[in-house]
Amino acid sequence: MVFDLNKCLGCQTCTISCKRQWTREEGMEHQWWAVVNTMPGKGTPKDWEGMGGGWKADGEPNPSRIPLRDETGDAWQFNKDEVFYGGEGIQTYLKPTNPDGSKPGWGPNWDEDEGGGEYPNSHFFYMPRICNHCTHPACLEACPRGAIYKRDEDGIVLINDKQCKGFRFCMEACPYKRIYYNHVRDITQKCIFCFPRVEKGVAPACARQCPGRLRFVGYLDDENGPIHKLVHKWKVALPLHEEYGTQPNVYYVPPLSPPSIDANGNADPSKPRIPLEYLEGLFGPRVNEVLELIKAEKEKKARGEASELMDTLIVYKWPEDIFPDFTVDPAEL
Ligand code: SF4
Ligand code: SF4
Repeated sequence: MVFDLNKCLGCQTCTISCKRQWTREEGMEHQWWAVVNTMPGKGTPKDWEGMGGGWKADGEPNPSRIPLRDETGDAWQFNKDEVFYGGEGIQTYLKPTNPDGSKPGWGPNWDEDEGGGEYPNSHFFYMPRICNHCTHPACLEACPRGAIYKRDEDGIVLINDKQCKGFRFCMEACPYKRIYYNHVRDITQKCIFCFPRVEKGVAPACARQCPGRLRFVGYLDDENGPIHKLVHKWKVALPLHEEYGTQPNVYYVPPLSPPSIDANGNADPSKPRIPLEYLEGLFGPRVNEVLELIKAEKEKKARGEASELMDTLIVYKWPEDIFPDFTVDPAEL
């Protein structure tokens, strides 16, 4: 999958479509296989980027730990009876509580829209995150039960819930912290890349429902597909934290940003609002080169010249331009 971060609205339609489809059973209440974090931000779970996991440069496992329930966020409950039927009108409002009655201290998208920088140079962008279905998955190698496997046919990484015994070594090993523990079934669970849909030619729910049309789905080795072109031909889609060593198969087109405003209130186009160093920390040293290429192609398009890259990113025809191999309408199955 490729996410074009220039198009994400932060609407969370992807988050909710995944939640409604896959994580509605008992013990899954706190699970959000698809999330959209505001960057810069602490993310889901809180401060996951500092938790370790994955592989060191020498190929040895990088030490890590299992995220705490408080850092991921609990299964909140709301005072719906009071708000909707209590007759208190505007004297009350929806308030979340954890199942034990305590006040939540963190949750998915907790720091939504906070971002970074100081006014007038405040900035943020939205970054959707799912399991990266890595080529060298730390989760898979950490599992002593052999319960995690990567499918040969499409690279989807799955957990066999009959073999999983809830040891949670996978949660510790995954550097992206995209695995959840089901305390009712004593197993771990994560994004399954909607494999039952994919097998029928239907795009994953997060991608098909996305109104921003920024989630490209396809095979990396299909030279005519948008994924191959964005990752290998134009090289504008970059993996998140490649240094974690798991070889993720989710890629991001980095976000352009507005110019900084100087002390006199004038725009300075030589200084992007989102600091380049910050983006390099996420997507590696090629970020500047990629942003320059996107800017140049955007300008070409604005001058009325042809740009295959811009046409690909714009997605004129839905769904065939964005997931050409997954155009079946689920309503027709
Ligand atoms: S993102 Fe984490 S859970 Fe997903 S395949 Fe990679 S290591 Fe495993
Ligand atoms: S549905 Fe699309 S636009 Fe909305 S938050 Fe998700 S990825 Fe972004």
